[in-house]
Amino acid sequence: MAIKNDYDAIVVGSGITGGWAAKELTEKGLKVLLLERGPNLRHGVDYKTEHKPPWEFAYRDQGDRKQYRDEYQIQSQCYAFGEATKNFFVNDKQNPYTHDPDKPYSWIRGYQLGGRSLMWARQSYRLSNLDFEANAHDGIAIDWPVRYEEIAPWYDYVEEFIGVSGQAEGLPQLPDGIFQPPMEMNCVELVLKERIEKKYSDRMMTIGRAAVLTQPKAGRAACHYCGPCERGCSTGSYFSSLSATLPVALATKNLTIRPDSIVHSVIYNESKDRASGVRVIDANTHDVQEFSAKIVFLCASTLGTTQILLNSSTPRYSNGLANSSGVLGHYLMDHTYESGASGTFPGFEDKYYSGRRPNGIYIPRFQNITHKNSNYLRGYGFQGSAQRPGWRRGVDIPGFGAEFKHALREPGPWRMGLDGFGECLPRKENHVKLDSQKVDAWGIPLLKINATWSENERQIEKDASITAAEMLENCGAKDVVPYINDTPPGLCIHEMGTARMGNNPKTSVLNKYNQCHDVSNLFVTDGSFMTSSACQNPSLTYMAFTARACNYAVGEMKKGNL
Ligand SMILES: Cc1cc2nc3c(=O)[nH]c(=O)nc-3n(C[C@H](O)[C@H](O)[C@H](O)COP(=O)(O)OP(=O)(O)OC[C@H]3O[C@@H](n4cnc5c(N)ncnc54)[C@H](O)[C@@H]3O)c2cc1C
Ligand code: SF4
Repeated sequence: MAIKNDYDAIVVGSGITGGWAAKELTEKGLKVLLLERGPNLRHGVDYKTEHKPPWEFAYRDQGDRKQYRDEYQIQSQCYAFGEATKNFFVNDKQNPYTHDPDKPYSWIRGYQLGGRSLMWARQSYRLSNLDFEANAHDGIAIDWPVRYEEIAPWYDYVEEFIGVSGQAEGLPQLPDGIFQPPMEMNCVELVLKERIEKKYSDRMMTIGRAAVLTQPKAGRAACHYCGPCERGCSTGSYFSSLSATLPVALATKNLTIRPDSIVHSVIYNESKDRASGVRVIDANTHDVQEFSAKIVFLCASTLGTTQILLNSSTPRYSNGLANSSGVLGHYLMDHTYESGASGTFPGFEDKYYSGRRPNGIYIPRFQNITHKNSNYLRGYGFQGSAQRPGWRRGVDIPGFGAEFKHALREPGPWRMGLDGFGECLPRKENHVKLDSQKVDAWGIPLLKINATWSENERQIEKDASITAAEMLENCGAKDVVPYINDTPPGLCIHEMGTARMGNNPKTSVLNKYNQCHDVSNLFVTDGSFMTSSACQNPSLTYMAFTARACNYAVGEMKKGNL
């Protein structure tokens, strides 16, 4: 088979990390081929449902329940999935994976140019040294090979480009960043903040830090608070590959984008001990082609990349490429999610808010910070918001007739929710491997996922629910409802850790620059590299490490080391 086009670099995946790798490598002068398994999507033009009202949808934005059950059983578990956004989520029937029946795992995916950067909720928080030192401190798994000081300039670099609105707070466990002006809290959130900070010396509440512009930036408009972000944002107000990184990469004229290109495996040249390129299956015709490059960046998302590496075994690496350590596929993590409480705040009935702010509040981690104050390791942060439900609440409450309809014209009571996002420990038994029996429509072995929550995560969920309820009650909420929804791993959509970084090649896949210990011109910069999960939303960290890895790779190429 003829090898096609010699590129300087191949980037696999065009989501949050692939977009960054394409931007950084092309800006540094490399000729880059970006391979994306999903179809092409044009910024703005292809956000077909962006401002479509419910009555224009076939199922009034409630969706076809039979189709959801038959074809979107997993994706429809995601809060952002619906009739208006279905086109951004994969069809589960066409893109299966396996797990033991008693170990459900929800793998939420977006296969298109831009990946999940189109649907993400944009919450963007830095990790701190509390997180980078946690494994060493607790004697869990392996130590991170980096500390905050090394990554901080890359967080700056990324935030400056993507635009993160937020409030500096000076907290050691949640370092401040380069922020655009913060969004405003509403009246109930402001009162709750004041009461929490008065009653609890170890807690505070801040506005969410979101990759949503509050000031225009580089051709992208400030957010106009229209609300349904997960349908796409044609003003480019939130960061996505399509609104920000890919246009910059394309402007260099160094980028070739090839959609509908499913990377089957990395091609390894045993005599040179290098990755020589990748093998690609055309998503539509199933034709197989090979592409070569001097370096390869895998950014196909944590599980996508791990599947590619496991499927690239060679005589030297029989259990997956770059896997002499044997840890590839292991230490899968996510965050605990949907454990918290909500309550009603009376006394604000004469107040409302304008616009649909695409952001909430954040209560940074306060457990186990300076001293151990719980019966579990690590902790959680709360995300939430105060809102008054609109007329659509009528769908879920009993009632009929003119009086009922008139009542729905008034906004409902103020309700405030606090939802805990908890840290997940890295455990070897949480792993993925290739299914030995089943393949997908393109002949690629399915991923078999084996993951459960440990007792530590269960305790975190329990504490988040009890503590949220206590805090709301102590701060004046009524009708407080605690909950633990027992969501399966994966549903927080922060899967990470299956090709972790570390100093020792015997216990890690990547070095501190996201470079494979075993194959020096192969880099992995999606969430696979994470050595622990912290409890903050992780994508900002993936971006910072991606930009840093690109800088390192190009530096090494210039020195003749790659
Ligand atoms: C509804 C929702 C809300 C979220 N909210 C947040 C949040 O608030 N904050 C946060 O930090 N994170 C959030 N996330 C998670 C965030 O989207 C991911 O962490 C992030 O997108 C990961 O970036 P990535 O580049 O690794 O993967 P992706 O963005 O998923 O991109 C991977 C790309 O690789 C492509 N691909 C996969 N396999 C192959 C292959 N074999 N060949 C070629 N291409 C391939 C895919 O099609 C995709 O385009 C959210 C996710 C969702 C869905
Ligand atoms: S709320 Fe803001 S970020 Fe979201 S779609 Fe509207 S303009 Fe874009």
